Amino acid sequence: MKKHNFSAGPCILPQEVMKKASEAVLDFNGLGLSLIEISHRSKDFVAVMEQAQSLVLELLGLENKGYKALFLQGGASLQFLSVAYNLLNRKAAYLNTGTWASKAIKEAKLFGELVEVASSKDANFNYIPKGYSIPADADYFHITTNNTIFGTQIKEVPDTDVTLVSDMSSDIFSRQLDFSKFGLIYAGAQKNMGPAGTTLVVVKEDILGKVERTIPSMLDYRIHIDKESMFNTPPVFAVYVSMLTLQWLKDLGGIQAIEKKNEEKAKTMYAEIDRNPLFKGFAAPEDRSYMNATFNLVNESHKELFDKLAKEADINGINGHRSVGGYRASMYNALPLESVQVLVDIMKELERKA
Ligand code: PLP
Repeated sequence: MKKHNFSAGPCILPQEVMKKASEAVLDFNGLGLSLIEISHRSKDFVAVMEQAQSLVLELLGLENKGYKALFLQGGASLQFLSVAYNLLNRKAAYLNTGTWASKAIKEAKLFGELVEVASSKDANFNYIPKGYSIPADADYFHITTNNTIFGTQIKEVPDTDVTLVSDMSSDIFSRQLDFSKFGLIYAGAQKNMGPAGTTLVVVKEDILGKVERTIPSMLDYRIHIDKESMFNTPPVFAVYVSMLTLQWLKDLGGIQAIEKKNEEKAKTMYAEIDRNPLFKGFAAPEDRSYMNATFNLVNESHKELFDKLAKEADINGINGHRSVGGYRASMYNALPLESVQVLVDIMKELERKA
């Protein structure tokens, strides 16, 4: 039986995608060759790459708006510095909402002046700062839309004339936003899109080419655009599986349809966290993430029994990150509502038995 997988990643994908992916490893497109042994320049794989890029732009509503979708490597962590390499001339502004934002800030500091417009570090990142101002002369303003570790999520895209850059690693394709407000979006594939190994970058072409420094080829977005994500050997398996997931999402009705499901899952989860006297939520209620729900036991002595109930119910991956403790239920796109129901049921069972 398949477990109820609440793990923060990598990577939670629909069963049908997993099945197609495993078939393609044995025989891709009936070619008598594996997906991972055909040439990445063959027409069969080039078609996969083109389809993946075009699905990204279609699902985000960014077709014909000057954006390019790239499938790169190095994870979101490499984007922390690639963004600055390509966009930071003199000054950049960052909102510090957690571990990943802090890491992005650390890298960007290597390239110029960095303004941290606000931080929620004072409360172990359990909220999203508001009411900050963004310097008008910043080359860009960087946010992390979903803070995977702390379970907070930015609900409204900040209103600014400064180029917006976002790390959307853990909530891309999960909810509707006006994506055209962003100059650049990046996301490691491994939550809502595909296996670890590829990183999605969606960039508006007209924000590029403005920095004075020389950019090494592998980090230069313009080179990757020019070479259509094939400047070097692409991670063919990760790109193929991402394409399958994007196709699955499109067939489901796109981001609009998945957003409804994600809302239902999150509401079910948070309703129980708030109702059950044995648990308390970690994140400020108005900033709660719909992807990663963080919560703690009020009384740690219930841990043993709760963990036992979780194990018996085939629940996987609910241990919280070490910097928050407690529990974290990640509810990525592919997690069914039934799994959330199973988790809620054992929370109720704990209340009865404790
Ligand atoms: N940014 C966010 C929001 C993440 O959740 C993660 C990983 O979980 C990262 C960045 C780092 O991604 P990668 O491991 O692809 O470098």
